[in-house]
Amino acid sequence: MDHQPKFFENLSGTGKAIGVLTSGGDAQGMNAAVRAVVRMGIYVKAKVYFVYEGYQGMVDGGDNIVEVSWESVSSILQVGGTVIGSARCKSFRTREGRLQAAYNLVQRGITNLCVIGGDGSLTGANLFREEWSGLLEELAQKGKIDEEAVKKYAYLNIVGMVGSIDNDFCGTDMTIGTDSALHRIIEVVDAIMTTAQSHQRTFVLEVMGRHCGYLALVSALACGADWVFIPEYPPEEGWEDSMCVKLSENRARKKRLNIIIVAEGAIDCHNKPITSEKVKDLVVQRLGFDTRVTILGHVQRGGTPSAFDRILASRMGVEAVLALLEATPATPACVVSLSGNQAVRLPLMECVQMTQEVQKAMDEGRFVEAVRLRGRSFENNLNTYKLLSHKKPDAELPKTNFNVAVLNVGAPAAGMNAAVRAAVRVGITEGHKMFAVIDGFEGFARGKIKEISWGDVGGWTGQGGSILGTKRTLPAKYLEKIADQMRTNNINALMVIGGFETCDRIKQSASGTKRRVFIIETMGGYCGYLANMGALAAGADAAYIFEEQFDIRELQANVEHLTEKMKTSIQRGLVLRNENCNENYTTDFIYQLYSEEGKGVFDCRKNVLGHMQQGGAPSPFDRNFGTKISAKAMQWISKKLKETYRKGKVFANTDDSVCLLGMRRRNLVFQPVAELKNETDFVHRIPKEQWWLKLRPLMKILAKYKTSYDVSDSGQLEHVAMHSPKEAEPGAI
Ligand code: ADP
Repeated sequence: MDHQPKFFENLSGTGKAIGVLTSGGDAQGMNAAVRAVVRMGIYVKAKVYFVYEGYQGMVDGGDNIVEVSWESVSSILQVGGTVIGSARCKSFRTREGRLQAAYNLVQRGITNLCVIGGDGSLTGANLFREEWSGLLEELAQKGKIDEEAVKKYAYLNIVGMVGSIDNDFCGTDMTIGTDSALHRIIEVVDAIMTTAQSHQRTFVLEVMGRHCGYLALVSALACGADWVFIPEYPPEEGWEDSMCVKLSENRARKKRLNIIIVAEGAIDCHNKPITSEKVKDLVVQRLGFDTRVTILGHVQRGGTPSAFDRILASRMGVEAVLALLEATPATPACVVSLSGNQAVRLPLMECVQMTQEVQKAMDEGRFVEAVRLRGRSFENNLNTYKLLSHKKPDAELPKTNFNVAVLNVGAPAAGMNAAVRAAVRVGITEGHKMFAVIDGFEGFARGKIKEISWGDVGGWTGQGGSILGTKRTLPAKYLEKIADQMRTNNINALMVIGGFETCDRIKQSASGTKRRVFIIETMGGYCGYLANMGALAAGADAAYIFEEQFDIRELQANVEHLTEKMKTSIQRGLVLRNENCNENYTTDFIYQLYSEEGKGVFDCRKNVLGHMQQGGAPSPFDRNFGTKISAKAMQWISKKLKETYRKGKVFANTDDSVCLLGMRRRNLVFQPVAELKNETDFVHRIPKEQWWLKLRPLMKILAKYKTSYDVSDSGQLEHVAMHSPKEAEPGAI
């Protein structure tokens, strides 16, 4: 069982000192990581030190290395960049500089370091660790420290977290900052799309990423761009012609807008740069289209971190402290990374080496290898983009004679349209005739079904809600009519997109007001995911959810906690309450209870977020998750159709004829719905086991509750053996 409490209270940081620094380029979410390291460090009773200005501060010492308190990291969770400063440091590249850094650390008894930075910073950290004992001996020889100190501080433990908007590090699905950068890019693309629609324009958009094409590729997927240039996948010889043909074909199909995305490191197959200017000139000269270039630049690093980055960095920071506590002289330096939706620890140097191999492969023109080395998730992004961006001529498509219908059910959710688009396009590529059902099962029963083409779903990825229309009606009372429709239209397979309580992530940032507690009600039916994750992302004090019942004692403890908090410099509170967490302890009740009990100490405000949570444009994550999971589902349907086709009939009479596709830990799993029945609480419309419940203690620790930390996110506490970065690949999402 996943979140069976394991109680690791014996893990103590007493007598240990941890230094935390950010180095290299800044990225949104670094502050969340710093905050988590500080608070988890203090929670396990270690001393924690800020090292300001990256390695430069470590070399310079003095006021650059200071012990911090719980309050030092208050109100930084939602701030972009890094509040402790980052710098490039030449002297740390020299042994002399590192000698000085070692001296400064030993002076303060710091033998544990959390380094948040890119592969350069982590390489430096690893080198520092390898040299450590030699550096101490040299310091002793020079009479700067005594022999006792050499013995006492004999080992330096290092743990890395990758902070980089480029997502250019092998071994982790996401680096801290990437998701926020994608948010910035997609905001710009969405804004450009509205103006460009009016003028029939072509937009060439240049995005960051240094030598990595991740941001460009995923942005292209998320906005359905016409063409994308990335360093790992240079276009074939003669690409100028094929790109222009494609652009003019799209225009002929009445598409008023073309979007071309260029990664800053894009090259052709002769390793020559492809610049956004060059692409623009080409389009203007060959096609005469009105074409504009937008270079996004530092906007991509800016703004507040996304909920995803805050949660990712918080999880990583906590895991990093645990890794330091468990480290022995024999454990290699590790990097905390994300695999699927799980935090894992990987050997730092193996990851760095793999990352460097990607560059080498590109330099030597081995591009297939470069894509493979980036990892399965990257490869899958590329394959999905290729599959969905361009329709092969009809003559080249297979013909299966299968008819497949797609429908939306339940509440509308951001990302649904991206999923429908992917299903339709993959289905067509597989040779099926695709049908769209309007208005869910109710519409289906009424015969609202029609064929849908490749072009019909153009531009759907960025649209919120459900374009097909969705109804909450369950199919039970329409079963016969639906069966009739299936028969009349000869539908061989059905892809249903929807769920019990579908959700998008929420953003909630604390305000600057003093002595005030905000009580926010979130949606989700009985499912507390939004309340819990929203609380983690916003640094809330409590989140009331149905899955973890609470009583009057807990409410009292929360009120006391907030009263205490008002005595510190952090005079603000945030409480999230899931709409159905308890029928009697309503949002109004909690508001009134807090107001009464807080009289004279704090006042309260309440806010019911309501339907705005379902609205708006889908986030980059939801667009891509919707797209990729749906493409995978359609490929699975094709395979099943072929397997079960006998004598002109499709047999759908086994358990796996009806499956749910979802991400489980590190894998994508097709699970027969019959099995799912046993795992579902139908009354409350939630799974009996919720994976994210293991993140509950995290939120409490970071909000300073006296809770016991039950379980490591990576589950690696007992078996410290690390994964290899190669096997850490998830189910290619
Ligand atoms: P990033 O960490 O984002 O890749 P850099 O490569 O610029 O950024 O590295 C940041 C800092 O890390 C450098 O300024 C330097 O102080 C340190 N560093 C990088 N590589 C090494 C190395 N091989 N040895 C020692 N220090 C290094």
